[in-house]
Amino acid sequence: MQEMTHRLTMDLRRLSFENHDSCLSCGHAFQEGDTSHLGYGENNEPLYVCDSCSSSLKETAIRHYYIPRPYETPDQETKLWRYMDFTKYVSLLSSKAIYFTRTDCFEDLFEGAKGIRKNKERWDSYYLEFFKNAIMNPPEGYVCELSEQEIEKDAQRLLKEMEVNGEDHKKRTFVNCWHENEHESEAMWRLYSSYLANAVAIRTSYKGLYESLGRNPSVNIGRVEYIDLNKNYAGPNDAFWRKRKSFEHEREIRALLTDLKCKEKGKLIPCDLDLLIEDVFVSPHAPEWFIHLINDINVKYSIKIKVSKSQLLEKPFF
Ligand SMILES: [Zn+2]
Repeated sequence: MQEMTHRLTMDLRRLSFENHDSCLSCGHAFQEGDTSHLGYGENNEPLYVCDSCSSSLKETAIRHYYIPRPYETPDQETKLWRYMDFTKYVSLLSSKAIYFTRTDCFEDLFEGAKGIRKNKERWDSYYLEFFKNAIMNPPEGYVCELSEQEIEKDAQRLLKEMEVNGEDHKKRTFVNCWHENEHESEAMWRLYSSYLANAVAIRTSYKGLYESLGRNPSVNIGRVEYIDLNKNYAGPNDAFWRKRKSFEHEREIRALLTDLKCKEKGKLIPCDLDLLIEDVFVSPHAPEWFIHLINDINVKYSIKIKVSKSQLLEKPFF
């Protein structure tokens, strides 16, 4: 087997990120536990392949144990909205950056949670068994020589570590949220602006958001899944992609990144606004002068998009 060189160019990282689920050579759909190979071919071209195709690699950068993503990736053209106050809109334009909030700063106390505390005992006993099994059944070539007591102690330690990591993750995970919808939403105008008359919404697409952030393989963009935490848990890797059913109306698509060093409550990630902003809408309650103001601001920041009035203002007939 080739030595891994750990040489990961941006092209290779993007290639494997954008084609996470299948071998680019034969199309094999990876199953959990398969090995995916990242490397370079004859002409130093980046390759992302399965075991059977790995002989085509001249250089192996790294091999991964394939794990499916804990979220669904939306289609390229999926429409995404972000509703905001006037000041946030100006801040977006002037900073040319998207603000990612540290997940322990969200109002939702369940952000990043794996379950409800009253059900924790069941979770703990499940993972305690899981860890004990893993310790007792090491990979081929190794033998477990620990006593029952030592196994118990080790499993308890791993469980504790998982708990501490869970809390820590919140301080290292940063999220930027979008609302998935083909149409404008009256409810979202009300929810995401503190002063309804001066609210703005921008519309983009999954592709627009991904490309505006520079096709960055460190930013995961996916659909939040809403689960009933009375009956379910979020798995150790799923916690930031699951929310309680009570939030289903948000239809959230989130962009998520991890930063181990950042101590701030949020991070500004540079963004190409021309790629991001497909449309700008003003609130259905905005006065006429507000529309002019937003148009003026767009001109000042070289945003070539003309502001649309809320489509909720169309006149009915009977
Ligand atoms: Zn293959």
